[in-house]
Amino acid sequence: MSSGGGFLKFNFGGKLQSFARGVLDLVIPQVCGGCGQAVPVTMGLCGECNLKLLSLVGLPYCKRCGSTLGPNIPEYPDGCSLCPNPIPRFGSVARLGPYTGLLRYAIHQLKYRDQLGMARRLGRMLGESISETDTPHRTADVIVPIPMHWLRRISRPSDHSAVLARSLGRGLKIPVERLLKRVRNTPPQVHITRTQRFANIRGAFSPVKGRSLAGVHVLLVDDVTTTGATAGEAARMLLAAGASRVSLCVIAKAEPSRAYTQHWGEA
Ligand SMILES: [Zn+2]
Ligand SMILES: [Zn+2]
Repeated sequence: MSSGGGFLKFNFGGKLQSFARGVLDLVIPQVCGGCGQAVPVTMGLCGECNLKLLSLVGLPYCKRCGSTLGPNIPEYPDGCSLCPNPIPRFGSVARLGPYTGLLRYAIHQLKYRDQLGMARRLGRMLGESISETDTPHRTADVIVPIPMHWLRRISRPSDHSAVLARSLGRGLKIPVERLLKRVRNTPPQVHITRTQRFANIRGAFSPVKGRSLAGVHVLLVDDVTTTGATAGEAARMLLAAGASRVSLCVIAKAEPSRAYTQHWGEA
């Protein structure tokens, strides 16, 4: 007679389940990416950090370059004290906020951690902020994401810029089309000077064949703009191909800290 069956039928029951839950907690910790506290999170952030993220949105900004305006950065009739010279070829910029703090964290989530929910959320927020203001971006004919080179695209699990553009397009009821392709794989624009950025990106884009751009107002969308070199080069190609106007919208503008800290401490 065998007595092994009794052992095999031993019921691990709740202990096994709670062990599994413990392992899952280790694998998917509920830790806020903003403050590091072990609390329930939405989109990787706790309630308080989600509010801090929203506080970065809605600051006044320059419509030519996207820099935060305030006492340290005055606005002029044709731009602001941080506007680059020459001004990039896109007509105006719409942005959510400065590239810092939790907005920077949120962009890293979609860009490097493949958090497409965050891409959809930021696209929706950008669409809402554009809808609420009287900006020419609302009347664009088509939304065009700034493309990645295919060599860089295949090294990433998903195309976050396309997800961002589609979410924005749904909010603004403007179609999304890939009217540009990246014909040259350029080194990343981070860690190079402003002059190098413009030289680095020159000739990187080409309009797709077989689509007339005559008279079309294009709304370019990107995650972050720094000098405007990349979007400016994309705009230059679209205008050369017949587009009547190119506007730019971005999640965030990378700018000197004196631009956004001038608003900190306000109630
Ligand atoms: Zn938090
Ligand atoms: Zn400016």
